[in-house]
Amino acid sequence: MRMKADALGRTFTTLRLSLTNVCNLACLYCVHESDASSQAFLPTANETVSGGKKMLSTIDFITIIKSILRQTSLETVRLTGGEPTLYKDLVPLVKALKDLGIPKVVMTTNGFLLKRKAQSLKEAGLDGINFSLDAVDKAIFFKMSRRDKLDATLEGIDAALENGINVKINSVIMKGTNDSQILPLLEYAISKNVFIRYLELMKMGHLYQDHNDFFFSEQDILWTISRKYDFHKKMRRGSSTANYWETTEGYKFGIIANESSPFCFDCNRLRLDSFGNIYGCLSDSNGISILDCLEDDKLLEQRLQQALKQKQTVRFTGSELSMKAIGG
Ligand code: SAM
Repeated sequence: MRMKADALGRTFTTLRLSLTNVCNLACLYCVHESDASSQAFLPTANETVSGGKKMLSTIDFITIIKSILRQTSLETVRLTGGEPTLYKDLVPLVKALKDLGIPKVVMTTNGFLLKRKAQSLKEAGLDGINFSLDAVDKAIFFKMSRRDKLDATLEGIDAALENGINVKINSVIMKGTNDSQILPLLEYAISKNVFIRYLELMKMGHLYQDHNDFFFSEQDILWTISRKYDFHKKMRRGSSTANYWETTEGYKFGIIANESSPFCFDCNRLRLDSFGNIYGCLSDSNGISILDCLEDDKLLEQRLQQALKQKQTVRFTGSELSMKAIGG
């Protein structure tokens, strides 16, 4: 039994797997000031956390993904969180996912614990890492993440590159906070010969209502870059979250512009949180539990179809859940 595409031809070919909802940074857009000083504390598998939910174990994750693979061909699994490098079994999990035959297993991380894990992740078969880096200036990095971890993050990026891992940089831009970093971040990416993608701030979590106060648009980002570089737009690849531009010197950069250039119409992403709930769209905060249907393909197909219906037709409408809870 295989799940059917929806009326727009969308199905799930990318799974974003949130290994934990715990993070070791406290970024302005993810964490409310009142929680900013709490330390990252990682519950272990099967431990009950708030709301009576249980964290999945590595075996649970693998069982779930095997069941999903019977319904839809996953081309990519992206490990995320919370912070995926906090997950104890990260390396064996990457290896197990590659052994299942998933073509691309990649990760999104803040990177500051990556230095000591880069080699083993490469050996396990990790195909790429997106590093979230919102500033290359120490004070601004601290303002954005509320932690003094810029040097460790940059060392993590270097370690990934030294181990031959494909690297991309993602930078969320917030008006009045790190918009001064757009050009320094581009120049850092150029110096490392890696792609950078800027993200428009999404209407999520505690900024759901106040999003406009910090919103810095795709147009604003392009204008900032045009002060130093000439560039032209590249063709968009199907299901890509980013639009890309190339400078006359040949440097490419992207913008993930949820508000200005929505990309829901061909979105192929499914999300699984660390408690066994799936989400078809970040705009929908109602996770659908699939824990009771792993041996029942018919039921699982119905739940996946239900998640597919959560997708928006045109644009992301926002969610009061933080990205950290649902998996970025
Ligand atoms: N801790 C990991 C990291 O920092 O990459 C993975 C999880 S984090 C939630 C994933 C991505 O979501 C990061 O690139 C982060 O910048 C982005 N993100 C979180 N909240 C966002 C928001 N409201 N708007 C845009 N991007 C957001």
